Amino acid sequence: EHPFIQYGAKTKKSYELMKEAEDYLPGGVTANIKHFAPYPIVMKKADGAWIEDVDGNQYVDYLMAYGSLALGHGHEDIKTAIQEQMIQDGTFLFGTPHELETTFAKKIQSYYPSMEKLRFTNSGTEATLLAIRLATAFTGKKKIAKFEGHYHGGYNDVLYSINPSLDEAGEEESPEAVPESSGLDLYSDERPLMLPFNNIEATERLIGKNASELGAVIIEPVQGGFIPAKQQFMTRLREITKKHGIILIFDEVKTGFRSALGGGQEIYHIKPDITTLGKVIGGGFPIGVVGGREEILTISKPNATGDVFNVGQGKKSSAKEILFHSGTYNGHPTILATGLATIERLEQDFDQTIAYTNTLKAEIEKLGNKANIPLKTLGLGTIFSIVCTRDNKIRHYRDLQNTNLSLRKELDFHLLNEGIYTKPMNRYSISTTHGDKEMEATLSAYDKVLNNRLG
Ligand code: PLP
Repeated sequence: EHPFIQYGAKTKKSYELMKEAEDYLPGGVTANIKHFAPYPIVMKKADGAWIEDVDGNQYVDYLMAYGSLALGHGHEDIKTAIQEQMIQDGTFLFGTPHELETTFAKKIQSYYPSMEKLRFTNSGTEATLLAIRLATAFTGKKKIAKFEGHYHGGYNDVLYSINPSLDEAGEEESPEAVPESSGLDLYSDERPLMLPFNNIEATERLIGKNASELGAVIIEPVQGGFIPAKQQFMTRLREITKKHGIILIFDEVKTGFRSALGGGQEIYHIKPDITTLGKVIGGGFPIGVVGGREEILTISKPNATGDVFNVGQGKKSSAKEILFHSGTYNGHPTILATGLATIERLEQDFDQTIAYTNTLKAEIEKLGNKANIPLKTLGLGTIFSIVCTRDNKIRHYRDLQNTNLSLRKELDFHLLNEGIYTKPMNRYSISTTHGDKEMEATLSAYDKVLNNRLG
């Protein structure tokens, strides 16, 4: 039976609510990524590792808000942090410096020593945006390079070749920058230089050829949180960017406090020039952090006369240029409190979360083997994805396109019907609240689907 039949029967209220939502919101959603066909499930409640939809169906949640919720839903530590910071002290927002900003910066730096100086933003998107401005301003070179399949936020500079069709994407050795939205070329005629992930020969050649114009190379050290870079690739990328005076930006919005507590840079022993963080470090609330080499970050330092803008008033010629960075909500006290509570809890519970993840990965693969279904898990730390293939070598976006994507989708919908939630085709992010009960529910759903439903 096609999984949509059961899906339609189980999620009638979601269907109705989505139809109404479409009258007001394009596609019924507030972010494109929330949409999937035939229609997304509308959620209502959550607790720990569980999420409940408007029809009353319960799911083990593996989306975890795209990896943001490291402690699951409604964690007591987060509630306490909100209670103390927001309710007890009544401090929603100051718009002034406050102590938690330094406390939070110190905590982040203890795991990311490459972040010698830090600035806060309100999302991962804003973090990479600032990182790129810092890198290009610092080097005076305006072109940037990114890797095919890597996501850094939804804005003009980087919204290229996240998920391009292989007929548009060009040769692997010199990929095209394919726009992922209409309108991009209206804002800028400059496309990023596109690089092939995990292909160091081609990457080295392309960087070398463009070095005089390139201010920055931005990369997810683990693509999408689940396709690891090869060590040799990373080591060499660090060497060549350094040699050419190009700023290496590690976008650790997804990998930070997930691939390892210290992110991809801990795993690969690489010191990037700039790092961006987000997701986990907000404890479920919007945040981003940018940090890196002191000499780069300090170009945003207001000058001795107190100027914050690099503007006119006759000062420009004498005053040192300032890179402007601001945001009404930057360093929001409640979010720094929930973020700090998250990191402190992870310090206790991260190993146990890794153990759950590794067991789940191994057991899913075992069930796949037993049912003779091509199914592999791929990932590091507390995130992974399911890849329908017998091939062990998924190096990058293109390899992924050559796996059995329709089987993966079918699997996902059957699993939704059995109460296992991730957005179809998405990753699994594990929280500290996934335990024995969730493991059992997940494996019994897999067992049922792999043996009775698929194909
Ligand atoms: N960078 C990476 C690696 C991400 O995974 C994401 C979000 O998924 C972003 C940047 C953008 O972050 P945000 O959605 O908080 O703007």
